[in-house]
Amino acid sequence: MDFLKPRYVPMSRRRRIYEGKAKVLYEGPEPGTLIQHFKDDATAFNAQKHDVIDGKGVLNNRISEYLFTQLNQIGVPTHFLRRLNMREQLIREVEIIPLEVVVRNVAAGSLTKKLGIEEGTQLPRSIIEFYYKNDALGDPMVSEEHITAFGWAAPQEIDDIMALAIRVNDFMVGLFLGAGIRLVDFKLEFGRLWEGDLMRIVVADEISPDSCRLWDIKTNNKLDKDRFRQDLGGLLEAYTEVARRLGIMSENERPTGPVLVQ
Ligand code: UDP
Repeated sequence: MDFLKPRYVPMSRRRRIYEGKAKVLYEGPEPGTLIQHFKDDATAFNAQKHDVIDGKGVLNNRISEYLFTQLNQIGVPTHFLRRLNMREQLIREVEIIPLEVVVRNVAAGSLTKKLGIEEGTQLPRSIIEFYYKNDALGDPMVSEEHITAFGWAAPQEIDDIMALAIRVNDFMVGLFLGAGIRLVDFKLEFGRLWEGDLMRIVVADEISPDSCRLWDIKTNNKLDKDRFRQDLGGLLEAYTEVARRLGIMSENERPTGPVLVQ
């Protein structure tokens, strides 16, 4: 019954659903699935700055796989199904909510600029911010009022998003701390997953050093995309260090658990 098995479709013949700055989405092997492909492109400042960093996509695919697998295991619903190869993962097709949800633990980036708070200041509590996903407008910050008034998400959906964002933050702060890394801030995206008539909000997109600020706990060395934004160099080495500390091994090595940094 060979014809019942999912067919291998060469990449060149797959239908491209969407191409973003750092990823491409292809149609998946079964209805309701997509293939998420990680490119090596690095962009910043609304794509005004662009570069190709060989191997970044491979690292982000592995790091995002690891984090989404952990989230699935603790019962945080996500779009992630499994990694397929070095650059691709199988995901559930969701309806992306057009918001970038930023969670902050320590002042950095736009928060320091906007409010004049010194970079590295521990925030009195975790702060959640919403940005409207719109490149032409430069992803403006929006409030719950805008989100509900313009129908980007319903009040109940915002509640679900905030509850999930807090769970993801609590979990990831601990996970990275165990690897000697401070989770300064990060960006999440959410999607609507339809199961018959029922709809659930799930974590979508990616979680990687492209979308998180990660600082070495001892030296405050930046292990994230700020190395690119600020022309610090050594981006690949930094992402490799994050993968190593999380215990993510290369293809031919046996995966171990997270490496506890004393
Ligand atoms: N971020 C992201 N994509 C964006 C904007 C921000 O992944 O389009 C992440 C960024 O890497 C950081 C967090 O969200 O971890 C907060 O970013 P911030 O608002 O400080 O923006 P930026 O410094 O990039 O202007």
